[in-house]
Parts: sequence; C-alpha cells; structure tokens
Amino acid sequence: MPLAASTAALFHKRTIRDADVRGKRALVRVDFNVPLENASVADDTRIRAALPTVRALLKGGAAVGLVSHLGRPKGRDPKLSLAPVAKRLAGLIGQPVALLDEYVGPEVERAVRAMNPGDLVMLENVRFHPEEEKNDPAFAKQLAAGFDLYVNDAFGTAHRAHASTEGVARFLPAYAGLLLEKELVALGGILDQPKRPFLAIIGGAKVSTKMDVLRSLVPRVDTLAIGGGMANTFLLAMGREVGRSLAEPDKETEARLVTDEVEGNGKELLLPVDVVAAPSADADGASGAATYDVDEVPSHLAIVDVGPRTIDRYARVIGNAKTIFWNGPLGVFEVPAFANGTRRVAELMASSGATTVVGGGESAQAVEEAGLADKMTHVSTGGGASLELIEGKTLPGVAAIPDR
Ligand code: ADP
Ligand code: MG
Repeated sequence: MPLAASTAALFHKRTIRDADVRGKRALVRVDFNVPLENASVADDTRIRAALPTVRALLKGGAAVGLVSHLGRPKGRDPKLSLAPVAKRLAGLIGQPVALLDEYVGPEVERAVRAMNPGDLVMLENVRFHPEEEKNDPAFAKQLAAGFDLYVNDAFGTAHRAHASTEGVARFLPAYAGLLLEKELVALGGILDQPKRPFLAIIGGAKVSTKMDVLRSLVPRVDTLAIGGGMANTFLLAMGREVGRSLAEPDKETEARLVTDEVEGNGKELLLPVDVVAAPSADADGASGAATYDVDEVPSHLAIVDVGPRTIDRYARVIGNAKTIFWNGPLGVFEVPAFANGTRRVAELMASSGATTVVGGGESAQAVEEAGLADKMTHVSTGGGASLELIEGKTLPGVAAIPDR
C-alpha cells in the first residue's frame, strides 16, 4: 500500500523541488557506499535509489557533481576508488560520468566551473581525506568551491556530521534530495501517524543495539513482535533456558521493563513460542538443527531461527495490521537453513495490504535477496540512519537543511 499523501505534510525541509536549478552547478551528496566484488559493483540498490534526484537535476538544467564515500579508507586507497561506481552509474543513467580524481583545490574548481548544464561528474571517495570525518570547515569550504547549491540525498550517511553531509551546508544553499525526502516521509510517517493497528517486528542479533529502538516504538505500537537473537534475552528474562544461544544476561532487567510496559498498557507482545535450535549458528550446524518449544531447548544447542508456530502467530498479526515496521532478521538468515523465519516474514509483509516499512542494514539485505523489495511500501537504504531516525534522534545531515 502506498504512503498516504498526507504524510508528505510531515516533511518541512527545503527540497530540490523548491530550487531553481537551471544553469546552476549542484554539489550532490549521495550514498554510493556499495559492496564491491572483483572491482565491480555487487549490489547497485543505492545507486539506483539516487537516480530520481540526479535525473531531476539534470533535466532541470543543472550540472551535477556527485560526492560520496566508499568503505573506510585510511588515506588514499585505490581499492576503494569510486571508479567502478562511476562506471555503473554511467550505464544506469545512460550518459558519461567523469570521475575527478582530485577534488579539492584550484584544478577541480576549474573543472567544476567548466561544467555545462546536463553534465555529470563524480568526485573521488571523499573519505580519502581525513578532514571529511572531522567535519573540517576549511575542507567543507573547498568542497563547495565552484558550486552554486548543495543537495543532500545521502540518507544512509545523514546520521553523521561530516564535511560532505553537514559542514558544506554552511557554505552553499542546501536542499534535500528526493531519496532523503522519501526516507524521512516513510520512516517519520510510521512514527507520527501510523494507521492502526501498528505492528513492529524487531529482531536482529543483540538487544543492546536495539534498546533505543524499542523504547521509541513501544509507546507507539499496538503489537510488538520480538524475534531473532535478541528474543533470547527476553526468553531468559522470563526464566527460560536458551542453551548456547546468543544472549545478553546483563540486559535481562531492561528486557523485562520493555515487556512490562507493553503488557501493562494492554498491548500485544509476541515472543517466540517455538524455535529452531542447532549445534552451531553456522552452516555446519544445519544437519543437527530441529524445532523445539521455547521451554524445551536443549542446553547444548543454540537458537538460530523462529519456529513454525511462531511464524503462524506472526502471520495472524501481520494480517491484522495496517502499518508494519520491521527491523532485524528473525534468525541467522545468512545460513539458508536458518533463513525461514526471516523469509516468511518478508513474504507475509509483501502480500499484506498494510503500509510496510523495513529499516536496518541486514533486514534490507534480506528483503532484497528475497526479491521482495518492490513489494514493500518502503525499504530504507540507510541501515544505522534508519534506526537513529526511529529512535527519535535528530540526524545532523537533515538538521543542516533549512525548512521550506
Ligand atoms: P539490522 O542490520 O537489520 O538492524 P542487526 O544488525 O540487528 O539487523 O542483526 C542482524 C544479524 O542478526 C544477522 O547477521 C543475523 O545473523 C543475526 N541474528 C538473527 N537471529 C539470530 C540468532 N538467533 N542468533 C544469532 N544471530 C542472529
Ligand atoms: Mg546490522
């Protein structure tokens, strides 16, 4: 189901639709931090996600300079060059993309000033410069040199205050790109005006990394379903044995506070009632895996997925919900034998009539791998950024853009 039109009213930032870009040179921060294999792009989801903004600017008569980071280089590193990304982008957009190898200094400024409307260039990996992550103002100013406006479309990096995501907005008029807008409307919309019943399904490895997500969601949801490795800590808190499962005994008290708050407010809480447990959480464990009720998990096994009765319960609440937010795989989905819960939740969400929003790096990956991304209302391109937004935090890259 598409997002309600009214949720667009949630977004107050200036976007490229508010800008007259004709004849202007736009510096556009994108998140092209994509996986590479053999010096080629292994997954171009993030590149495709930026195309609407790039196309809109070029069509509007702007010249576009793209800036992104890739990986975590310590200084200049040819293995983390954006050259393969520029090549893939050129293929997707159907026009040449020049890669500017050095991009701060008079030569680049000259190259930028020489751009004509409709030209598209890309600057080399911005993290080759340590000043980027330090949000160095002099570096941000150099980055801005020769450009007339700044567009941030890098939702996946919006939770970082770096020179190309935050600092540069002090030197150029700043606008949100269409992807940034789409992300904020989708994720903000489920927080602020969810159609009810609102179901959140939260999984993933550790409860400690999801505590702030839970704290933010619990007051807003009607039903909370907990799965994945983090469910083990909740099971411990209820006095169950979880054998050799991943669990965080020091988080039991916090887990209990969450369950008390959900149930104390008359909301529905779904914890696994059955699980798949295996001798180990890797592929070697697959042959020894079996389904157990949660109170019968053998002490020598580790919980690696949710079981079929738990999935049936998920199916019921997914079928009833009008809004569903999902973050965190329900099992060790990287091992095909333990991917069933995660895949079934993706399928059930994809075929539900609800507004469906997926956040988190591995969760988005699981939905992409299942080929179901375009069946969801929104799959966030920002792993950490999507969770910080759900936590209710202000993202520096968004805060730097003026309101409309
Ligand atoms: P996301 O990136 O979507 O926010 P997380 O990073 O929190 O998700 O968690 C993803 C990881 O959780 C996956 O690598 C998966 O293997 C792991 N995981 C899920 N269930 C279990 C489990 N029962 N035991 C151990 N790890 C698990
Ligand atoms: Mg993750």
